[in-house]
Amino acid sequence: MTNHQPAPADFVTAPATARTLDLAPARSCRGHGACTCQEEPAPPAADRTRRRSEGQWALGDRTPLNANERFKLEDDGLNVRVRVESIYARRGFASIEPDDLGGRLRWWGLYTQRRPGIDGGRTGTLAPHELNDEYFMLRVRVDGGRLTTAQLRTIGEVSRDFARDSADITDRQNIQLHWIRIEDVPEIWRRLESVGLTTAQACGDTTRVFLGSPVAGISADEIVDGTWAIEEIHRRWIGDPEFSNLPRKFKTAISGSPHQDVAHEINDVSFIGVRHPELGPGFDVWVGGGLSTNPMLAQRLGVFATLEEVPGIWAAVVALFRDHGYRRLRGRARMKFLVADWGIEKFRQVLEQDYLRHPLNDGPAPPPPTGEGDHMGVHRQRDGRYYVGAAPLVGRPLGSTLVALADLAEAHGSRRVRTTPHQKLLLLDVPETEVDDLVAGVEALGLRVRPSTFRRGTMACTGIEFCKLAIVETKARAAALVDELERRLPSFDQPLTLNVNGCPNSCARIQIADIGLKGQLVVDAEGRQVEGFQVHLGGAVGMDARLGRKLRGHKVTADELPDYVERLVRRFETARKDGERFAD
Ligand code: SF4
Repeated sequence: MTNHQPAPADFVTAPATARTLDLAPARSCRGHGACTCQEEPAPPAADRTRRRSEGQWALGDRTPLNANERFKLEDDGLNVRVRVESIYARRGFASIEPDDLGGRLRWWGLYTQRRPGIDGGRTGTLAPHELNDEYFMLRVRVDGGRLTTAQLRTIGEVSRDFARDSADITDRQNIQLHWIRIEDVPEIWRRLESVGLTTAQACGDTTRVFLGSPVAGISADEIVDGTWAIEEIHRRWIGDPEFSNLPRKFKTAISGSPHQDVAHEINDVSFIGVRHPELGPGFDVWVGGGLSTNPMLAQRLGVFATLEEVPGIWAAVVALFRDHGYRRLRGRARMKFLVADWGIEKFRQVLEQDYLRHPLNDGPAPPPPTGEGDHMGVHRQRDGRYYVGAAPLVGRPLGSTLVALADLAEAHGSRRVRTTPHQKLLLLDVPETEVDDLVAGVEALGLRVRPSTFRRGTMACTGIEFCKLAIVETKARAAALVDELERRLPSFDQPLTLNVNGCPNSCARIQIADIGLKGQLVVDAEGRQVEGFQVHLGGAVGMDARLGRKLRGHKVTADELPDYVERLVRRFETARKDGERFAD
């Protein structure tokens, strides 16, 4: 296998256009040989021992400390594409090398699916080849959630032709397809790329999709439009080996909306709109958020960034993470652990001194978010046209529905679509005269423009149907739960988020929901082990962001779920004071 690691002393180079992109050759090396990072003042002995054990490149620790680090060092994940096109797609599933199958294919958005029929009790007990199906999930990245109707139609057609009509809108604004055969991947890439879409770095230890406000550039109350920064970062760094071997995945969010609509508290780095008293509109920078089994909310860096500074600061944060992030244990490799260990002051100091080599502006905190931030319903844009937010049930429209939606939107004057971090869709630029007909058409396709509280606020991860880590079923169960709650509590209209996860990994954000459900096996009244959920209550992002409490006694079987949620909601309705939210 070819080793495409850069030559020794091939440091991160400073793009010529912006001072903020001067990523400090002396310190931020790729750590491949002639590393000068060891010029860093030596930490106290005890600290040095501990830090070296974490496998940080910046400390000269280059020996791969686990299987993931080994395969990443042997060959860049991005290079797997050549083998897909020249070998795997021609010779079939059996020809895929193990390190590509279980690792590098992710750099192009491909994960093997769970073999059908394997129950949650066997998750974690089987070897990969027993758990892996010969089909793949393919994640299409949708940076900023921005799609044209032509792109939406293409995704829908790919789904119809190659993915058994599957299409999941994720809570990171991506669209995931299932049942993909490796033989079809080159044609799928050709179709997606013909309309400007990509699956590059949709998964893997790299910079994943960039969340963006779904109403960027159109809403009347926007503080600043972050679209340019998202596009600039994508143009310069997606597909660039500079950031294709990070310690772990890296999540970004950029929103200039006063609704703070991208769950910025749970991203590795976020840029949130704020007005500086002297410098005008720009962004407040946050770092170190992430959920999973060790949830942490991001912290403010105390920095104000103008729109033009965002790409440079973003690149410096990623370079810092690449060099200083922990590579020994996968469970400690996210940037949140580094931020937690260093503290925010040291993080900012290293960022400024070793990567940017200039101080950043201090900045004010953003005001509390306004409104719901999921953009459901019909809203007037600042240009006088309208956008329509619609909810597919638990984020799962069919591929053929996406095609029909693209046709419908175009028939009513819309050429732009947005996916949201709440697994929803917006259709933009609708003339006032077309709104009613468009809404009727959307509803006829099974999406809800004025959804019930439960349809609006329920999200579900992939779950046991396709995910190899899952312990329980999620999507179908959440859909049935929504139907049942709509029937039992038809007049309940308070905001409520209900997030259903198939395991502790929190892809559907257990810890920041009003009711977070973490899939696990539980014991039912007859003493049998059955699918169920550990309950987390009272999580929130935005105003009073906090992690939900895990209530030890609150474990419910899947069958008990409707009764349990109904009881919670009725109790809240009865005890609620004026203005009180469920999370309160
Ligand atoms: Fe899979 Fe668990 Fe993530 Fe759900 S939360 S998609 S089950 S890893």
